[in-house]
Amino acid sequence: MGLMNSTPAKILPAKILIVDDQPANLTLLGNVLNAAGYRVFPVSSGIQALKLLERHVPDLMLLDIRMPGMDGFELLGQIQNLPQCAGIPILFISADDALDSKVRAFELGAVDYLNKPFQAREVLARVGTHLRLHSLQKQLEQQILALEQANQTIHELSIRDELTQLHNRRYFNSQALELLKSLEQENAKVAVVMADIDRFKSINDTFSHPIGDVVLQQVAQILASYSQKADHSRENNLLARFGGEEFALLLPHTSLEGAVQLCENIRQGVEQFSWDEIRPELRVTISLGVASNPPYTLSSLLSWADECLYQAKNRGRNRVYAQRVL
Ligand code: GH3
Ligand code: MG
Ligand code: MG
Repeated sequence: MGLMNSTPAKILPAKILIVDDQPANLTLLGNVLNAAGYRVFPVSSGIQALKLLERHVPDLMLLDIRMPGMDGFELLGQIQNLPQCAGIPILFISADDALDSKVRAFELGAVDYLNKPFQAREVLARVGTHLRLHSLQKQLEQQILALEQANQTIHELSIRDELTQLHNRRYFNSQALELLKSLEQENAKVAVVMADIDRFKSINDTFSHPIGDVVLQQVAQILASYSQKADHSRENNLLARFGGEEFALLLPHTSLEGAVQLCENIRQGVEQFSWDEIRPELRVTISLGVASNPPYTLSSLLSWADECLYQAKNRGRNRVYAQRVL
């Protein structure tokens, strides 16, 4: 006999709920499934089935159709309302071989329809197939979920700078392009800032590279907190670590004067920050260059802000330099 071949290769035997009002049928079908290695839960009414489903969730269900009280179709409807039973294959096994009954069963969501009296080998073949299909479907759903989570993680990684947790240059550029497009449409003001830590190389040389990293992280935090506080517009300001010790900030709905004021606050915030907990002798300042529109071209705003930053450095560092794009 090929009975054993139909049993799925699982470590835990699959659990099968069978519902039939006739004890003889229940025993016969139960024995066939038991002998094939399944764990059988036999009950003799829809009410009992629903009660059992509160505590046990089977891997597959075999329902009789004609039963006193709740018939198989009604029971199917009730089971479909149970969230814990979502997706579990339900098969009918009935002496009723009317075409209408068969079609109705499939329309209601049953996955198969077996005739009584049943052939043991056929029952096992069909049960085995539906269990395999269901387990493949569950696997697929888990893989899709895992992929979606991995995708989300990859996306997060692709837009963030690892050291400072600020957004990175790629994210800044793509968001800035979109923001500038919509700002241009409403003819709104916008300012772009480039900020750079002063003499950072000598901070690294004097205090070590790891201390330099901590300085970068702290300056990033100061920038982040000031650019949030100053956000009086509808959109968020856009802040990113643009390069090594360089940061870019895009301020929508902000005039050149407003941007200069914010930059001056940031500059003072960095200058006055106490490094006592890291190295009391540390002194950190930044220089900032500010550009404002028109035009709304990202590349010209950035290179103009960069030019202003260069001016700020040239004029002695630890200062803000601003100019409208000509
Ligand atoms: P300036 O005032 O003109 O900006 O001088 P600077 O020394 O800050 O500028 P420079 O471009 O000469 O040096 C930048 C230094 O920043 C060199 C590089 O090793 C360091 N750096 C870049 N990325 C990192 C980083 O992730 N961590 C640390 N610790 N240092 C970094
Ligand atoms: Mg019956
Ligand atoms: Mg520098």
